[in-house]
Amino acid sequence: MAIKPDKSEILSRLPSVDRILAETVLGEWKGSSFTTETVRVILDEIREKLLEGTGITHTTNEIATEASRRLNIRFAPQLRRVINATGIIIHTNLGRSPLSEKAIEAMVRAARGYSSLEYDLKRGRRGSRHTLVHEILTTISGAEDALVTNNNAAAMLLGLTALSKRKEVIVSRSQLVEIGGSFRVPDICKAGGAKLKEVGTTNRTRIADYENATSTKTGMLLRVHSSNYKVIGFTEEVSLEALVDLGDKYNIPVMDDLGSGALVDIARYSSLKDEPLVADSVKAGASVVTFSGDKLLGGPQAGLAVGKSRYIDKMRKHPLMRAVRPDKITFAALHETLRAYLVPKKLAEKLPVWRMMSVSLKEIGKRAHKVAADVTKVAEGSGLKVCIDKSDSYAGGGSLPTQMMESRSVCFSGTGKRLKTLQENLRNGIPPIICYIKDGKLHLDLRTLILEDDNEVTELLLKALKMKED
Ligand SMILES: *Cc1c(COP(=O)(O)O)cnc(C)c1O
Repeated sequence: MAIKPDKSEILSRLPSVDRILAETVLGEWKGSSFTTETVRVILDEIREKLLEGTGITHTTNEIATEASRRLNIRFAPQLRRVINATGIIIHTNLGRSPLSEKAIEAMVRAARGYSSLEYDLKRGRRGSRHTLVHEILTTISGAEDALVTNNNAAAMLLGLTALSKRKEVIVSRSQLVEIGGSFRVPDICKAGGAKLKEVGTTNRTRIADYENATSTKTGMLLRVHSSNYKVIGFTEEVSLEALVDLGDKYNIPVMDDLGSGALVDIARYSSLKDEPLVADSVKAGASVVTFSGDKLLGGPQAGLAVGKSRYIDKMRKHPLMRAVRPDKITFAALHETLRAYLVPKKLAEKLPVWRMMSVSLKEIGKRAHKVAADVTKVAEGSGLKVCIDKSDSYAGGGSLPTQMMESRSVCFSGTGKRLKTLQENLRNGIPPIICYIKDGKLHLDLRTLILEDDNEVTELLLKALKMKED
């Protein structure tokens, strides 16, 4: 008959918390109260098992190692680097635009020490962050005035609030856009305290529709770029010029939300075309033009508002400005990103987004072949075929949804279950590779991989291919 262990004898077998906390294996976790807490939890678990008669004793080193392992998992950085093999360049879920080296350096500089964020070095007194990118942004856009917010949604919210609160905002029914779930034009109007006044129909809106809707209650004419969809067929839209004429006639501001917008003609760099130019909206006379910093611009998350001083100034002075102003790190990165536009010829060398859009099929193909060749043997050994396929890549970020860029992918084919496992293994890699399955093949699109080291990609692939099926 087994003798039930004596309770005090069991407890004496457990090492003390203090001895465990002294273990060097704890490394960076030493001295944290969360380490003490974790060690206590582990000791409780061991004690319980010992009392049940199923447990074994552990050394202080083993317990400290386990505590360290649990803390590493619990407090691991959640924002992790991933490799984007989806072929979608401005992938909102994957953090939109990768930044240029210069922008990254500027962010590090701004982060490390103090900066002239709101200090006028010439006069030796308080300055304004609004001046930081003012010169470059007005120069590139051709606008009189400019300001920056945390994102484009914030720029719109500020515009609506500062210029049209408690008034009516006239929008065409063809432009009541939803951008990815939480952003909808009717909702942002409401949030800005403005009353939405829809005019026209889904496919056709005329200037007379706008004019008939204008009254003393009108605060703004709003045009929203249909960035992520297209209305085709029997359609009619009012030009920005016509809206500006109408606005001038009744002294009503016209706000033009371009979504992504482009500072240079995209057709000169890629097979893409027709992304509206910020400068065109400025030239057409829009009171305020808003666009994103991290879409085609290729910079940090930001909202850029350019236009007439009379209106931009009202926005800048509105109390909401304080709530939507960007930080020093954003300004640092944005300024360097904008500087790239001063020499448009070299844009693709400087900004990753433009590099990915303009890279030649030949280069993509060449790199795809090299990666494929390096993984073929192992892939075949695990029952998968490897080939290079044509694939479709996109600008993404809600820009140019109907325009596909031909690209090349390293593809794997095999059973559906095997492909799913490989996709999952790649997603669990360090760093994870995000790719997609289409028409019975797993695709790794090389267009969005051009920022990566191919050897790293190959190694991650080999590792994922060699992992056992669960
Ligand atoms: C993307 C987009 C927005 C929102 O911009 P964020 O920078 O994501 O806030 C607003 N309007 C349009 C038309 C867009 O495409």
